[in-house]
Amino acid sequence: MSSSENALRKEMVFIGKQMHDKGFVSASDGNIACRVSNNRVISTPSGKSKGFLSPGDLVVTDLNGKKISGKGKPTSELELHLAAFKERPDIRASIHSHAPFAVACSVAGIDLGKIVLPEAYMIFGRVPVTPYATPSSGESPKVTAEFIKKCDAMVIDRHGTFTVGKTLMEAYMKLEKLEHFAFIMFICSLKGRIKTLNRQQLRKIDEIRRKYGLSTMRYI
Ligand SMILES: [Zn+2]
Repeated sequence: MSSSENALRKEMVFIGKQMHDKGFVSASDGNIACRVSNNRVISTPSGKSKGFLSPGDLVVTDLNGKKISGKGKPTSELELHLAAFKERPDIRASIHSHAPFAVACSVAGIDLGKIVLPEAYMIFGRVPVTPYATPSSGESPKVTAEFIKKCDAMVIDRHGTFTVGKTLMEAYMKLEKLEHFAFIMFICSLKGRIKTLNRQQLRKIDEIRRKYGLSTMRYI
């Protein structure tokens, strides 16, 4: 194993613990994957809590899901991650969580597509909610297929989040930001009034994105 793969394994374990500590996953929910080379993917194993992983627990597969090494079984949502890697050569990492406010918004029908917060718009544009898919059934890559072409963050209806990035940390930061946005949308919906940004405000944010060269793929 290369030293860079070793470092990625440690980072994946660290991010799994963050997800668990922050309540983005419960029990053995969620999964993380990272492409280490063209046809080599490290992912979290099936059935293990993301809060208690060690680097040796991770599973290595090829891009078609064939296991190369590791003690456990690959995550049951591996196809979701592999489909994203195949569609998007620009990304290396992906995270699926059950972040509770993101899920709650999709259950309650709170529209995450509203453009409300400047920094959420800067990173995500609008946050799409995909159609429903039965977990671990192979349906998740089908419902996310159209969205992953256009954006780096989405909510899978009544199930969880899916975020991607050039690095594991980037995919994780998008998860944190998405859940923070969903939290604000949830509490604002209790009040019943949501103020959205106007066109001029959005134009200024777009200018700032260009100025700082932000490259996240947004859903507009
Ligand atoms: Zn899930």
